[in-house]
Formats: sequence, C-alpha cells, structure tokens
Amino acid sequence: MVNIVIFGKPGAGKGTQAEFLKSKYNLIHISTGDLFRHHIINKTPLGLKVNSILENGDLVPDKLTIEILENEVKKNKKANGFIFDGFPRTINQAKKLDDFLKSLAMQISFTIALEAEDEILLNRLLKRGETSGRSDDINKEKILNRFKEYNDKTLPLKEFYSKQNKFFSINGVGGIKVISERLISIIENS
Ligand code: AMP
Repeated sequence: MVNIVIFGKPGAGKGTQAEFLKSKYNLIHISTGDLFRHHIINKTPLGLKVNSILENGDLVPDKLTIEILENEVKKNKKANGFIFDGFPRTINQAKKLDDFLKSLAMQISFTIALEAEDEILLNRLLKRGETSGRSDDINKEKILNRFKEYNDKTLPLKEFYSKQNKFFSINGVGGIKVISERLISIIENS
C-alpha cells in the first residue's frame, strides 16, 4: 500500500498530478478542497458553514476538515492506497492523520511538495479563475491570503515530515508530463 501526500501552494498543480498518480498507481484521490466545494454546491449544513471560509481563502477549522477526511478514508478501506491532495495543511491535521492511519494499520509513505514561485502561481490561478468558476481564484487579495495561510500554517509540515524522512520536494514548473516524471522518480526510487 502506498499513501502519498501532495503539498503545494494554490496553483502548484496538486490536483492535476494527483489525478495522474491516481490512475497510474490505482489509488483513491482525496481532495479536501473538492469535498468542501461539493458540500457548498449542494448547500449541505457543512457547505453553508464553510462557504465564506473558502471564499476568503482562509483555512477551514481542523475539526471539520479532519472529520471529512476520516469519513472519506473509511469509505474506501479496501483501497490500494491514497493520495491526499490539500490535506494535511496544519501540524495538528498531520498529527491527527498519523494517529488515524495508525489506528487502521496504515501510514504515510511519502509527502511531496510541488514548488513554484508566487508570481507564477498567481498568474496560473488568475487564468484558472477565468474558467474554473471558483470565486477564490479570481481575486488577487484572496489568492494572496491563500499563499499566506500556506506560509503560516502549512510550511511547518516540511520539518514535521522531514523528521520522519518522508519529505520530498520537486520543481513544479514545466510541462505536466515532465512534472509527473519527477513525481514517479521519487515514488519509485525512494
Ligand atoms: P484547495 O482546493 O485544496 O485549494 O482548497 C480550497 C479551500 O478549501 C482552501 O482554501 C480552504 O479554505 C479549504 N481547505 C481545503 N483543504 C483544507 C485543509 N486541509 N484544511 C483547511 N482548509 C482546507
């Protein structure tokens, strides 16, 4: 079983690469952002609660996020492995994920960060916003807030996973295929 965490600031290409890894290694792809957006579109109680949080580019409270993630893993207990996209985003989430996986006799195999400069990401997101329908992609202030949330709360995870010898990072700039190759090389040679 292989369980991979994909990190990266908004616009780094996590979703695209997670979909590639999902089909290559037959994994279940869990994107907490997609799950929240699904609730928002369907106007569920959770969706109504988190709508403005996503719109502003803030992080959803850990308790709600961990709950939604755990439910999704439990639904797929027979999976070959998981690709976690956009989760964990805080140290607390990472600790809870370790404990939760341990309770299922599972563990994280690798965490891989897709690195790119803010200016490149900002341009990618503004472009994506023209077609994605995501309100958090069209406003520069909100995008910059998402970068800040990443720097403040998610970056410390580098150290957290480095201490477990599970942290890798790759250059997230280039063609989609080239970046996929960089990911494969880590997964198959580590
Ligand atoms: P994403 O699609 O991964 O860019 O996530 C979109 C938004 O969903 C984020 O800006 C947060 O508001 C929320 N979100 C997704 N994953 C998490 C998480 N692990 N912790 C807190 N908030 C999250």
